[in-house]
Amino acid sequence: MIESVSDGRRVLIIGAGISGLSAAWFLRRRGCQVRVLEAEPRVGGSIATERRDGFLVELGPNTTLQRPGREEDAIGRLVSQLGLDDRLLEANPAGKKRFVLRNGRLQALPGSPPAFLATALFSWRAKLRLLREPFIGRGKTEETIAEFVERRLGREFLDYAVDPFVSGVYAGTPRELSARAAVPRIHEIESRYGSLIRGAIALGKAAKGAGMPAGRQISFDEGMAVLPEAIAAKLPEDSVATGHRVTAIEPSSGGWEIAWTRADGGQGRERGDSVVIALPAAATADLIAPLSEAAALALRGIDHAPIVTMGLGYARAQIAHPLDGFGFLVPRPEGMRSLGGLFSSTLFPGRAPEDHVLITGFIGGTTDREAVALGDEEVFGRLAADLAAALGIEGDPVFRSLTRYEAAIPQYTLGHLDRVEEIDRALDDHAGLFLRASWRDGISVADCVRNGEKLAERVVLSYK
Ligand SMILES: Cc1cc2nc3c(=O)[nH]c(=O)nc-3n(C[C@H](O)[C@H](O)[C@H](O)COP(=O)(O)OP(=O)(O)OC[C@H]3O[C@@H](n4cnc5c(N)ncnc54)[C@H](O)[C@@H]3O)c2cc1C
Repeated sequence: MIESVSDGRRVLIIGAGISGLSAAWFLRRRGCQVRVLEAEPRVGGSIATERRDGFLVELGPNTTLQRPGREEDAIGRLVSQLGLDDRLLEANPAGKKRFVLRNGRLQALPGSPPAFLATALFSWRAKLRLLREPFIGRGKTEETIAEFVERRLGREFLDYAVDPFVSGVYAGTPRELSARAAVPRIHEIESRYGSLIRGAIALGKAAKGAGMPAGRQISFDEGMAVLPEAIAAKLPEDSVATGHRVTAIEPSSGGWEIAWTRADGGQGRERGDSVVIALPAAATADLIAPLSEAAALALRGIDHAPIVTMGLGYARAQIAHPLDGFGFLVPRPEGMRSLGGLFSSTLFPGRAPEDHVLITGFIGGTTDREAVALGDEEVFGRLAADLAAALGIEGDPVFRSLTRYEAAIPQYTLGHLDRVEEIDRALDDHAGLFLRASWRDGISVADCVRNGEKLAERVVLSYK
């Protein structure tokens, strides 16, 4: 039975990824009744953790960035409300160091001006080019990240700092992603300060003056899956129905009705005052098409990158590199197929048995779509060879885990913000219908939680 709340409106939420579950949690805190329907047998969507043979492997996100500030830190509020503070882990400070491959060798990304001058990651020409940055004017039209970075910082920064970062976060390419949509905070610095360097100095001073802590990378003792599982467990009984695939939504006497099917052939319909669709763009388009062909078309224009993630475990003694960092990224000009590897067991404790280490590697993305179709042995072989070359590894891994995503990470390409606006406009006259997932307003787990909290406010306001 769903616990009754006197002022409780009933909100149907489709999808139990972190977007749907966060929305459900914050709606429930605001007195709504919630009912979350999830197609898969488990909650969490892209967030999934596997524990096997003494290793704890993330199949999706390994960590998320908790930012300071009242609005940004919805994930901090969520963690506390769920009573998870003592299960939260902050990444090892060594994780501040990030490596990038250049000429086949790992180079640490410089973290200070002297380190920047000394690094072999960038040539002297690239370093001198940076002196021009404060004098370059603002962009006039919407630019890709590549156009934005090349204009402000030069080609080498694009290839050896930004391109690998974009592959690592979006599994995409800066040549397609929109600077305004995909890296809004950096784009905003140009708009406000006219220069990234001047902006970084001003922001650094302001943060120091306010005594603000920097953001921190977080996870949980038993991995990222702790978060969605805790939400599902703490919502009232019967709030979350796994194994229920929603096949249709339609307006119904001032509210919304949805139809679902189960794997055992069971079918049903449920009614709510509002409905939140918290699904990837293509799945959202399927449900929306009967209501608005225009919205469905715009949603289908939002691509999701394919990716293969792998956990590889080794005995510590097999690896020459100290693994003293977050991980490493591979710029495309290096000609290595893997996108990079995270040093998972350096970041958080309990990820590998004693005297062993765990590395999480990635292959695929929008520049290598064929990778998801490769056989298991081929991808494992490819990644193991790339890790061996970059980190000096002897012998085979002692542990392997592989996950394929056909459509994992939404691509905020040129025109993305216009597409999102078009979707909202096309659905404007459908009161009580809300779309909330990582294809809009930020892809990180922390973004999804923040947006889930904001959405709860909007839904409640719509009842006033
Ligand atoms: C491999 C990978 C690595 C990542 N790494 C990081 C990282 O390190 N840090 C970070 O912050 N973020 C990372 N992300 C991004 C972040 O994990 C995702 O953006 C976020 O988890 C997406 O959550 P969501 O709820 O919007 O969507 P999803 O997690 O996709 O959830 C959607 C849910 O809807 C369900 N569903 C689909 N169709 C239906 C239907 N018809 N009826 C009912 N249910 C349905 C799905 O089964 C799924 O559970 C990563 C993502 C991936 C894939």
